[in-house]
Amino acid sequence: MIEVDGSIGEGGGAVLRTALALSAVSRNPIHIYNIRARRTKPGLQPQHLRGVEALTELANARIDGLRLNSTELTFEPSVIEGGKYRVDIGTAGSTTLILQILMPVAAFASDPVEVEITGGTDNPMAIPIDFLKNVTLPILRKMGYRGEAECVRRGHYPRGGGVVRAHIEPVEKLQALKLTELGKVVRIAGVAHCVRLPAHIATRMAHAASMLLIKAGYSKVDIKAESYGPARDPHLGPGAGIVLWAETERGAILGASSLGRPGKPAEQVGREAAESLARQLDTGCVVDRYLTDQLIPYMALADGSSDITSTELTSHTLTNISLVEQIIGVKFEVEGKLGGPGKIHVEGLGFSRHFQPPNF
Ligand code: ATP
Repeated sequence: MIEVDGSIGEGGGAVLRTALALSAVSRNPIHIYNIRARRTKPGLQPQHLRGVEALTELANARIDGLRLNSTELTFEPSVIEGGKYRVDIGTAGSTTLILQILMPVAAFASDPVEVEITGGTDNPMAIPIDFLKNVTLPILRKMGYRGEAECVRRGHYPRGGGVVRAHIEPVEKLQALKLTELGKVVRIAGVAHCVRLPAHIATRMAHAASMLLIKAGYSKVDIKAESYGPARDPHLGPGAGIVLWAETERGAILGASSLGRPGKPAEQVGREAAESLARQLDTGCVVDRYLTDQLIPYMALADGSSDITSTELTSHTLTNISLVEQIIGVKFEVEGKLGGPGKIHVEGLGFSRHFQPPNF
């Protein structure tokens, strides 16, 4: 059984998600302790509990320790079965972070996986749904990943009630990823949204972001404003945010985002996202700071040699790397320092869907 100390690195939910997902994919039982030890409310919170429950079902796992605030779990995965799954987080907890646990596992299921998740779609410290759809998934598809996500309804803190549907087809193997040449930016696109708020909030965010990017020298900028009139607004509570992505001639997609909150001017939200995108493009690196940590498990499982340059090596990325090395035994080579741009190389495992563990 693999032993994982959940307090390593930044000791948050990411350690739990990566560890359990890789345990399920490789069908290696895992014992994880000190779960989220470095968070103010340590242990499993409702959104983690729902995510682990969904994974337990998907991987036909035996589990011990699955309860609220639990800081220790034993997870023994078995066959990954396709089918339809539904998860209701019950709070505004992040739907995309639930998908982050399920996505690598679903790629190696017996049949297609359909999952509907109710909760938050645009949360602080989580992948905004528009980032998942327009940055994470398109880059994963370059590795042969076959998944789509749809935002049926947005959900924000504190009311939640957002609905995300994902459809994932199994693959034989994932292919290695080469993203080291940025090339020229061919277009910057984006979505600025507001719900249960006046439409001008979305247009002001979009306008401020466009202005900044045009001033920075990007000529093709296309940011859509999404809003709902009071008569046709199905959302439970107010919320606003913007996601931007730059597409380059070499096939790179880099994203950046910002979320609104009461008292924060719409222009500031738009500018924050645009500044972050422009700053990251200036590094000449190809994978943005958030996508970098998200890609680590996929690169480790893929067939062959993956190389990326990252606009920023975050502690999430470095933690994910040491965790993945511990669980599936690959070795990453990293150049660069925490907080700066970097280069990441790994010789992937070439994991196949038909892999059977020796004791199976
Ligand atoms: P907690 O312990 O409170 O559950 P956590 O540690 O699980 O928190 P994080 O690990 O901070 O949460 O982040 C989760 C994931 O969300 C990371 O993979 C990160 O890349 C992604 N993420 C966070 N913010 C953004 C963003 N603005 N855009 C894209 N992805 C993001």
